[in-house]
Amino acid sequence: MTEKSFSSSPEAFAQVRENYLRITENIANAVAKANRQDKIRFMAVTKTVPVEKVNYAVSLGINLLGENRVQEFLGKRDFYVPDCEIHFIGGLQNNKVKYIIDKVSMIHSVDSEKLALEIDKRASLMERIMDILIEVNIGKEESKGGILPDAVNEFSDFCFHMNNIRLRGFMAIPPPDDNGSNERYFEQMQRIYNDCRSKYGEDIDTLSMGMSNDYEQAVLHGSNLVRIGSALFGNRK
Ligand SMILES: *Cc1c(COP(=O)(O)O)cnc(C)c1O
Repeated sequence: MTEKSFSSSPEAFAQVRENYLRITENIANAVAKANRQDKIRFMAVTKTVPVEKVNYAVSLGINLLGENRVQEFLGKRDFYVPDCEIHFIGGLQNNKVKYIIDKVSMIHSVDSEKLALEIDKRASLMERIMDILIEVNIGKEESKGGILPDAVNEFSDFCFHMNNIRLRGFMAIPPPDDNGSNERYFEQMQRIYNDCRSKYGEDIDTLSMGMSNDYEQAVLHGSNLVRIGSALFGNRK
């Protein structure tokens, strides 16, 4: 049996369904525990996942896909079932913005003035407004993208005042801290998000944090968009 046919076997689909139901229930439990009334968006992160498995997840009720890699996305997008919202969440080079600007409804990974300017310019050429999130390097890790926490205020101002960009909030990928828990970072992100929302108002409505290993904790700390890959589709090869 080839890998491809295995990955789309009935067993593989049944596993995705089971995972979906479990994650949905875990999210609902975290929402109840946090006593929240708002809605949490469940994004399926599609990197390395075959199209038919992605489409199956959509058939279960997922209506938001997260794309990391421009080339992979461009190769797969024509085969996705229509009417699914797609966000770009991976590191984005300035020269790739033009390939995705008309194909996604939000970019989560904006982390430099140059990138913001390029998105603004390309959006303007398309006569559209692009929704963006600022990626925050909340753990101050050298190897990672994102704006350092100290620079968030200034960069938010910069993005907020561009004509063809609409700042919607923040994204983060916190590292585990010494206790193997991200809690401290999630709390810091929640503070950054709330401060920005009091400053700019209700346009700021998205806090994108929480992945397969920590989405419940993220929901306890105000995340309203969790990005889930391996817990839904299985481990990536
Ligand atoms: C891969 C990826 C995810 C999902 O990771 P999992 O741990 O597999 O859930 C979420 N966000 C970003 C930005 C990613 O690159």
